[in-house]
Amino acid sequence: MEKEYHFDLENYISRERFDRIKKFAGDKETPFLIIDLKKVEQKYDELHATLPFAKIYYAVKANPNEDVLRMLIGKGSCFDIASPYELDHVLTLGADPAKISYGNTIKKAKDIAYAYSKGIRLFSTDSEGDLRKIAENAPGSRVFFRILTDGSGADWPLSRKFGAHPDTIFNLILLAAELKLEPFGISFHVGSQQRDIGQWDNAISTCRYLFDAAKEEGIRLKMINLGGGFPAHYIYPTQETSVYGAEIIRFLTEDFGDDLPEVYLEPGRFMAGDSGILVTEVVLVSKKSEANQYAWVYLDVGKFGGLIETLDESIKYPIYSEKTGPLQEVILAGPTCDSMDILYENEKYEFPASLANGDRLYIFTTGAYTQTYSSVFFNGFPPLKAYVFKE
Ligand SMILES: *Cc1c(COP(=O)(O)O)cnc(C)c1O
Repeated sequence: MEKEYHFDLENYISRERFDRIKKFAGDKETPFLIIDLKKVEQKYDELHATLPFAKIYYAVKANPNEDVLRMLIGKGSCFDIASPYELDHVLTLGADPAKISYGNTIKKAKDIAYAYSKGIRLFSTDSEGDLRKIAENAPGSRVFFRILTDGSGADWPLSRKFGAHPDTIFNLILLAAELKLEPFGISFHVGSQQRDIGQWDNAISTCRYLFDAAKEEGIRLKMINLGGGFPAHYIYPTQETSVYGAEIIRFLTEDFGDDLPEVYLEPGRFMAGDSGILVTEVVLVSKKSEANQYAWVYLDVGKFGGLIETLDESIKYPIYSEKTGPLQEVILAGPTCDSMDILYENEKYEFPASLANGDRLYIFTTGAYTQTYSSVFFNGFPPLKAYVFKE
């Protein structure tokens, strides 16, 4: 017997809530993103409950939607920003400069000066050149130092580009003190969508080593920034947030005992990812030859419309069709005239064989790193629109 198409909707959203969101979506022109604001709030609460002593610096780049940011400001969240534009954006919405961290290690001197003029006193760094710029343009500020991690275990690694070797960091700590900055703490990012919790263990141990080395030079570091990396709910399963929390607490106490430093978190994907439902329409179903086993399904959204994280099929979004019946494995692609605009070819997605032109599909977990990644006018397609569901 042929296998029937099955998608476990309740794994991602209750049927009742999905129906309400579908009603909200109505017949708006696809593609568009719906941001379920309650979901972001729920994720914030979940993380806060799991690591109550930690300060949450939401990584704004994941989803800078105004309603999302306003809600988080209201909840007392702090923010990690990477540019003067993101800074202006969160300040305009009412964020407190004392709750903002300039977390990008790559910055122009004038951007540092601008942030300082707006009251920002917390900067990350990983190089001498950047540290000297901070000393000159943001005198007396707190700095934290980013160590290199290799990103293994992560679906979207951020390795190589950011962070420096612990020995280099040690020298930067000493130089920061010399330059009359306040060496405040150590940060790292274990890679985005990190499914191996043990990666935090290694990095926290390196922090302990640097805390000790600095102390011998009379410098007391006070903070560890555990970065992002906390997962959203894509196709591959991850541990519960509570397991991440319990493990991280275990690693921290193993290394620091009762004398815990201040702990900062910088969740992006975790906070925003699950809130997104991208509504798309099938533009075309076709076969390259009669004998070909797989049909090509072209959607009205693709790599340039917000799904760039399908690069190398790194992030595997759950995609739902409301049709039923026998299933078929397909190759999924976007609508643009660039041959890299293929979403999934190695990973075979299954849909009902009856899927046809004009059918809607719902791409879950698209709340992070989608809308802002969408291109402006490639093939004339406009950037991805977003609507916020506030019920
Ligand atoms: C992007 C980024 C984050 C967020 O990472 P996620 O894996 O999305 O949680 C946190 N910190 C810094 C410095 C970043 O650049």
